[in-house]
Amino acid sequence: MPSGQAGTLREVIRAATATLTQAGVASPRADAELLAAHAAGVDRSRLAVLELSGHRLPDADAARYHELIAARARRVPLQHLTGTAAFGPVTLQVGPGVFVPRPETEALLEWAYGVLEHAGPSPVVVDLCTGSGALALALAERHPGAAVVAVDDSAEALEYTRCNAAGTGIRIHRADVTAAGLLPELDGRVDLLVCNPPYIPEGACLEPEVADHDPHHALFGGPDGMSVIPAVAALAGRWLVPGGAVGIEHDDTTADATVAVLRRAGVFGDIVARTDLTGRPRFVTAVRSGPDNSRREDDA
Ligand code: GLN
Repeated sequence: MPSGQAGTLREVIRAATATLTQAGVASPRADAELLAAHAAGVDRSRLAVLELSGHRLPDADAARYHELIAARARRVPLQHLTGTAAFGPVTLQVGPGVFVPRPETEALLEWAYGVLEHAGPSPVVVDLCTGSGALALALAERHPGAAVVAVDDSAEALEYTRCNAAGTGIRIHRADVTAAGLLPELDGRVDLLVCNPPYIPEGACLEPEVADHDPHHALFGGPDGMSVIPAVAALAGRWLVPGGAVGIEHDDTTADATVAVLRRAGVFGDIVARTDLTGRPRFVTAVRSGPDNSRREDDA
């Protein structure tokens, strides 16, 4: 933007909101404000004060804002532009190469908090397909005594995980959850297993932010979205202590299929299909019932 051309903050945000609306961005006003706060280097509440006081962005910040809005209008995800994503109580570093955590997964997090409330002083918690480490970090923060293991098979994603988990005791492990014999030292020792696997059925129609910027490997779960979930159920059967709980996120078309996978394993009770914050079918939870942790893993 040419020097001195920027209007007041309020005016540039209004113009940016119009640009984003026209580009089909789902929450144009919120994104325009968040990017203005980012460009100005303040948080959103301080931004409101600046707006009310007739503040004008310095030219360099205005130019930066203009670029950010242009990128967002091209449907680059907001979180890639700010470099962060909020998930429950944590803020994660994200960008190209890692899945941006979604609000719908906070329903799984809330359920997992309930499990941790009744856990002992040092539960073992595993987050499979951890991506940026969202669930692992939020759970580690909630229960400082928990031993948290975060697993993902993407080297690119794990760079973000490592960065996000720095200074925590979270153990990070690179592995494909469908590989045989994963982490046998966890057999019969895990109190809580959570997983937000790739589960979108191939060919599903996605917003550009998702289709063009999230790693496809983190999104798609085969033709029916169920290519990873049976392996997660099998690991839950093997790893969970009797009474331990598993929560698996799934596509909104695959609640029944996920319940069926857990039922077929023959080692879970309390199998419950649950919804996300918008009421869509989103995750299934179950409790490991028997004392025999190795039984019927292959059937799951
Ligand atoms: N819920 C995500 C989306 O709709 C997909 C998450 C996933 O595949 N794990 O974009």
